Amino acid sequence: MKVFLDSIGCRLNHSEIETTARQLLANGHQIVTEIAAADTIILNTCAVTAAAARDARSRTRQFHHTNPQADIVLTGCYATIAPQEVANIEGAGRVVVNKHKHQLVQMLDPQAHLSLPVFDQEPIMREFLAGSLGAHTRAFIKAQDGCDNKCTFCVTTIARGQGQSRHMGDIIAEIQALAGAGYQEGVLTGVHLGSYGRDLSPNTDLATLVRAILHHTDIARLRLSSLEPWDIPDGFFDLWQNPRLLPHLHMPLQSGSDAVLRRMARRTNRANFRQLADAARAAIPHLNLSTDLIVGFPGETAVEFAESLNYVQQIGFTRLHVFSYSPRPGTAAAKFPNQVPGPVKKERTRRMIDLGHELSLAFHQQYLGQTVNVLWETAVGADSAGLRWAGYTDNYIRVTANGPADLGNTITPTQITAAQSDSVWGVT
Ligand code: SF4
Repeated sequence: MKVFLDSIGCRLNHSEIETTARQLLANGHQIVTEIAAADTIILNTCAVTAAAARDARSRTRQFHHTNPQADIVLTGCYATIAPQEVANIEGAGRVVVNKHKHQLVQMLDPQAHLSLPVFDQEPIMREFLAGSLGAHTRAFIKAQDGCDNKCTFCVTTIARGQGQSRHMGDIIAEIQALAGAGYQEGVLTGVHLGSYGRDLSPNTDLATLVRAILHHTDIARLRLSSLEPWDIPDGFFDLWQNPRLLPHLHMPLQSGSDAVLRRMARRTNRANFRQLADAARAAIPHLNLSTDLIVGFPGETAVEFAESLNYVQQIGFTRLHVFSYSPRPGTAAAKFPNQVPGPVKKERTRRMIDLGHELSLAFHQQYLGQTVNVLWETAVGADSAGLRWAGYTDNYIRVTANGPADLGNTITPTQITAAQSDSVWGVT
């Protein structure tokens, strides 16, 4: 079977589609990077915003028009919260909800064995990853799924259910195999990574997992994907004394107004978040502290938005992922009164994004003239000076530089020569 794979949304979705790819390869199937070449197409969908659902519909139609014979399988959060709506998309074939996603390969190939070792196929895997899904020299590793919190805007708990942790031994084995296969960096992903281990018996926690990974594996670089700003045990940031744990924390704040945070049912507030940010900065040199922000949440007044903008400036985040509030089916907030009018949301979103650009540029400018280590990922073009590569520093700054054909998946010292809000230029 020739399979084309695609994924929308979070790194957890990416890590799941990477696992599906390895299982398919281990069972003798072929991964193709051309839609037209596929017998089967699998799309891991996202439901976090209306835009993500729209994207899934347009990709499905595009798959169908490009390859009408292909069997199109739709899985993921959008397929889980609206299976009938997804089944009605032109070209949609099977709809596989999240709780059955782990059996997807067996649904396609009843003879398939999901327990087969899957990492000795890595050279093909990396080639496939380079060909589609956006060249990762970083491997995304699923540590946890689901969430027990009830943030009022969030559809993820509806789509992914309660918090579930993978066994530590499986995670360590996967990361060691990836390191053995040449991956330089592993990214731990989850819906609520901070709750890792709570559901295991005996229970454990994220700090114990990170310590065990750094002790039992040879992975050169370990990154945490996203960490909700609560349930972080004292001393957690001391883990970063190990230089293999990368100085980048993505902690979703969502709003800088306490009144809005209460309506979101977020288990944090301005004072607690500041304390956490200060503790992280004190413990982790060169910390890149990024965040998610929702603008235009129901009932958000001009005063609350101004509070949020000011607070974000004061914390001095280094990168903002800004979302214009999008009511999601089944969430409490979708029924809240005082939904903010579209034009107001749009204007506020633009102002928050502009602030994000200012903050990122200021952060990047601190590195002008400095030499930093960069893990090179993708050749992004060529110019008179030769091939142009893109990669990331250990604190997750995107760097572009000219370099030789074999720069990919190597870590080299790079001097930063120019800075923009979304990336920097360097010489390596
Ligand atoms: S912590 Fe809140 S926003 Fe995050 S996944 Fe859980 S419910 Fe959703």
